[in-house]
Amino acid sequence: MKYVDEFRDGERARRLTVAIRNEIRDDRSYRFMEFCGGHTHAVFRYGVPDLLPANIDLIHGPGCPVCVLPVGRLDMAVRLATEHPEVILCSYGDMLRVPGSGGESLFKARAKGADVRMVYSVSDALELARANPDREVVFFAIGFETTTPPTALGIQTARREGLKNFSVFCNHVLTPAAMGAILNVDPNSEDRVDIDGFIGPSHVSVVIGSDAYRFCAAQHRKPVVIAGFEPLDVLQSLLMLVRQINEGRADIENQYRRAVTPSGNSRAQAVVADVFQRRDSFEWRGLGEIPASALALAHTYREFDAERRFDMQYIPSHGTKSCECPAVLRGAKKPTDCKLFARVCTPENPLGSCMVSDEGACAAYYTYGRFREPAERGVPTQATKIPASAINA
Ligand code: SF4
Repeated sequence: MKYVDEFRDGERARRLTVAIRNEIRDDRSYRFMEFCGGHTHAVFRYGVPDLLPANIDLIHGPGCPVCVLPVGRLDMAVRLATEHPEVILCSYGDMLRVPGSGGESLFKARAKGADVRMVYSVSDALELARANPDREVVFFAIGFETTTPPTALGIQTARREGLKNFSVFCNHVLTPAAMGAILNVDPNSEDRVDIDGFIGPSHVSVVIGSDAYRFCAAQHRKPVVIAGFEPLDVLQSLLMLVRQINEGRADIENQYRRAVTPSGNSRAQAVVADVFQRRDSFEWRGLGEIPASALALAHTYREFDAERRFDMQYIPSHGTKSCECPAVLRGAKKPTDCKLFARVCTPENPLGSCMVSDEGACAAYYTYGRFREPAERGVPTQATKIPASAINA
């Protein structure tokens, strides 16, 4: 298959669905976490959960960079923008809407006079720095391994051009560390979320490679299938996971072979290794402090580190009372378990990060009407579903 349409083919989807139904055992459940928020949105956009047997449960993971940033880090950005009139603070659009302590946000800071700009990339921030030599331009960098290489290249570019008024507030985080934290939770802890395997991230894996997840199988006996973002990718990956479970295997398999290799993108890894170093520890919303789970600027690039340049201090804080984002991000609750969901908290009035971001689970549930009954969403009744026997799977 070469083109996107082929990965959305209804007939193939039905065959994969039947194959999954034929494979699953009725005497057990299957709980698979899609780590990445992109997968969460993909499965609901294409109605994948409605195609699955009832004993396959998709657990939504923390793979949304806007969602997992703790309130205290957002507060740091708000303080920087409001207390330093010389600063132009720029970040991605979603980040500007996330509520921080006391309901403050970067958008609200802008309304009060702070110079906060929405950018599409670090290149836009560099352009602002070139155009405003008398101002301090700070790029509020967030993201997993996918967006880290562009930030690193931006910092290298700033050094090459001698841009003295450019710096980065670095909040890049690391996927394997978060997966390890999920698997490492004490089985007796109430924070433990039992899963049978992971649908592995797509874009992150293009950069870091499939070998980065070997520890899931080797140390925890949990299979990982790296999946593309199209509906057939996800269905095929679920079939691969079900087969592993039924055969008692825990392997790292790569369904997204058209983009992901075992070792990943070595050039991207090299530029990241040049510019960044691991932090000892970093707080994730919902997962708490995770050792070695985030990046800071390397000592050799410290002059571009906004935390150092502006003496920014981290003060832990909590989000909106009653917001269940932390539990949603660890997979312990579904968005619809939150009593604020769709009643008070909506994409127009988000009370937590998971309702803001394009990759947030709450936004996915809201956008694709998961708070409505299946019939209201156009899901066929059992009587109109195609029987397994009618399809040659
Ligand atoms: Fe938080 Fe809103 Fe999601 Fe509830 S619905 S968990 S308040 S983002």
